[in-house]
Amino acid sequence: MILQGALYIVATPIGHLEDITLRARQILSAVDRIAAEDTRHSLHLLKHLGIEKPVVSLHEHNEKEKALKLLEPLQQGASLALISDAGTPLISDPGYHLVRLAHEQDIKVVPIPGACALIVALCASGLATDKFVFEGFLSAKPTSRHKQLENLIKETRTLIFFEAPHRVLATLETMRVIFGDQRQATLARELTKTFETIRHATLRELWEWVSNHPMQQRGEFVILLAGASKPVQDTLSAETQRILKRLLAELPLKQATRLAADITGIPKGLLYEEALALKRASEL
Ligand code: SAM
Repeated sequence: MILQGALYIVATPIGHLEDITLRARQILSAVDRIAAEDTRHSLHLLKHLGIEKPVVSLHEHNEKEKALKLLEPLQQGASLALISDAGTPLISDPGYHLVRLAHEQDIKVVPIPGACALIVALCASGLATDKFVFEGFLSAKPTSRHKQLENLIKETRTLIFFEAPHRVLATLETMRVIFGDQRQATLARELTKTFETIRHATLRELWEWVSNHPMQQRGEFVILLAGASKPVQDTLSAETQRILKRLLAELPLKQATRLAADITGIPKGLLYEEALALKRASEL
């Protein structure tokens, strides 16, 4: 059964081709057209499912101008399914403008749930699942990436990131600096595929393992980090605050933070936040 004039958002596998729901298969067989991110890639899946349908492209570079045109036939009762290269459309994938426009035009939007790499990784991560934050892809630029991570230093919820294979090691290294060697983390690689690897360890152990095994720098990755155990203010003891204050009285902020990190073993990122706050307070 398919609704006339509806836009279906259909999740497809993130690796293993059998990870598609019966409903997704049925909807893809029944709709009039399918919009896909990379038509060639999706034709491979459709062939595997034995589905022959007109497939049109909708990717991040043409979505805005194509969305309006794609929805026109839906006003006359045609149906459209949106899929992406893998997993759930719109999750770090195109589709937002299309769905938004569909709502503006009173077109029914029907989600067909299925695989989503961040959820698959989270449930196998060994990290807290009750509250989490999905940060998508970090910036490709090292300085922006550093800043983005620094802004998350106080986050107590589990943190989830997508990362490209050629940046995975550098990102783990930056994470070590900001969140400390001992922060618990999970690296989920090639989920549902032949070389699936899910490793839960400290940031330091993960970094060492990935550096020593170049094979572990290939494929698709989700990086998950345990949230800060307590709000940052509570984790710095009176003694640490005293050391930091004393060093700040003699040295520039960055140097004081670095020395305090050496003395106390507390991650530089945490101390830097506190040092900034102390400096601001002393200037008032
Ligand atoms: N929409 C997709 C979803 O629902 O999972 C995500 C699309 S995003 C463009 C692609 C990124 O998701 C990859 O670079 C990787 O970080 C992550 N990813 C997708 N499939 C994965 C897999 N099988 N194993 C690990 N990570 C995966």
